[in-house]
Amino acid sequence: MIIFVDMRKALFILFAVMTIVVACKPKQTEEHGPQLQYYTTEKTYDIVSVTSPAPDAEVRNVIFLIGDGMGLEQVSCAWVLNHGKLNLDNMPYTGLSRTYSTSDLITDSAAGGTALAVGEKTANSHVGCNPANEPLYSMLDKAQKLGKKTGVVVTCHMADATPCDFCCHDDDRYHYDAIIADYTECGVDFIAGGGRDYFGSKRQDGRDIVEEMKAKGYNYAATEEELMAAQLPVLALLADDNLPVAAERGDLYRNMTARCLDLLNEASGDKGFVVMLEGSSIDDWLHANDIEKAMEELLDFDRTLGDVLQWAAADGHTLVVVTADHATGALTLQDGDLEKGEIGVAFGNDSHNGIAVPVYAWGPGAQLFTGIKENAEWGSLIASFIH
Ligand SMILES: [Zn+2]
Repeated sequence: MIIFVDMRKALFILFAVMTIVVACKPKQTEEHGPQLQYYTTEKTYDIVSVTSPAPDAEVRNVIFLIGDGMGLEQVSCAWVLNHGKLNLDNMPYTGLSRTYSTSDLITDSAAGGTALAVGEKTANSHVGCNPANEPLYSMLDKAQKLGKKTGVVVTCHMADATPCDFCCHDDDRYHYDAIIADYTECGVDFIAGGGRDYFGSKRQDGRDIVEEMKAKGYNYAATEEELMAAQLPVLALLADDNLPVAAERGDLYRNMTARCLDLLNEASGDKGFVVMLEGSSIDDWLHANDIEKAMEELLDFDRTLGDVLQWAAADGHTLVVVTADHATGALTLQDGDLEKGEIGVAFGNDSHNGIAVPVYAWGPGAQLFTGIKENAEWGSLIASFIH
């Protein structure tokens, strides 16, 4: 009897211990890798449905979108968050872009964006110039020479690397005073982003670049309302530094883009236009390993792409290309739920990485945008449609 009671006691203790062990066993991901960040968003949206023009239709306009830091891993996360759909899914032709620079296996946005803008690789920290600091001219310069209109619309401050890759020339991306002064010479018809301070109060040389550009004929807009009323040529600086984060700026980026396309289209007639639209801040939040803010930026960029595709489908003579300058954050999608729109991710670092990034194309000529190419070759291919 005593033995029987002891056995029952022992079994009970064994059961209790096993229960505790099972309850405390960590998830496999926690045991073998970094802690995952989980995220889901309320702000999901329907994607647009568009019919592509005939592949051999004449290309008059080129709209080139760059998601800074937007690798396939970032796109995959956004796709899950929006319950398995993105406007990017509309783009029938895809390729891969190798992003290394002449100086580094891991590119920065200066060299990565310059290769796309000018069709030639350069060294890290160089914007719009080769490693010997000789200026290189971008697809926007080519378009201007052919009498087309041009535009740049970004969410960052205008001294950040990507817009400068298209408009400025310097071997040090942090020579902000000199780089911003280049906008007075770039001839771009529609310039919109943030960074008012870099044009005036933050300058060491006392110049007021906004006033200089006004003297050259630019119509300056400091608010969204002013931008919507401004006529070409436009300089819109809508924040002292970067634009507010996606969650706070509402449809500002989409509205800037719509205004750009309408004004350039109206002014360019049959000659057409070339515009670079950047989802600049995706990269910033990946550097900060902030999955929520990075994804809200990417989803805003994709919503803007939806607007662009609808505009291009109505136009019938517009090539649309989307890519990234590099991927950022060594992001991995390790868990989640497609039905719930939930992702479980880990960051491997707080800088860039060297994985090839996707290229997407839509519209006449898009059928040539396939295969694996250097970033500079993709830039040259886009420029070949500017004629
Ligand atoms: Zn970066």
